[in-house]
Amino acid sequence: MAKPKVATTSLAGCFGCHMSILDIDDRILKLIDLVDFDKSPVDDIKEFTGQCLVGLVEGGCANEENVRVLQDFRRHCDILISLGDCATMGGLPAMRNTIPLKECLEEAYINGPTVYNPKGLIPNDPEIPLILNKVYPCHEVVKIDYHLPGCPPSADTIWQALVALLTDKPMDLPYELIKYD
Ligand code: SF4
Repeated sequence: MAKPKVATTSLAGCFGCHMSILDIDDRILKLIDLVDFDKSPVDDIKEFTGQCLVGLVEGGCANEENVRVLQDFRRHCDILISLGDCATMGGLPAMRNTIPLKECLEEAYINGPTVYNPKGLIPNDPEIPLILNKVYPCHEVVKIDYHLPGCPPSADTIWQALVALLTDKPMDLPYELIKYD
């Protein structure tokens, strides 16, 4: 019987949540018994090969490409999980949300203390994804089925959540795995 598929992606994130997925250590062998990985940086598959049971999304949406990828994940994944604080609430990238976008770009490319940009140009090549006015958490763009908080969520949290979903059990994570105080 074909195994269910899992897909993962990193939007406006730092790949720390993906590092936490890999932190499940030797349980990755058990995971591979349970699932096949589809589109993911873990296996470098760039496009979906079919419908997936679970999609894990790291990072929020900071540009139009992030939105397109997230919408693609929503279409291809029965269960979509916001993985980590950047996906669930914007996280560190969303610190720019209180500052006008023009000011952010000028600080990054013109006025910043370590910037050398004698022509004073802000990159605007059409190949560069259009930056959004602010960073949006995933649930403000598509429907999200579960949120796993943490920066990053621990490997144990990710493991227990995945096993519950893959074995059709309730996702009843112990308090120790989801408290951050
Ligand atoms: S939640 Fe933390 S570890 Fe995950 S992508 Fe954001 S900054 Fe990185």
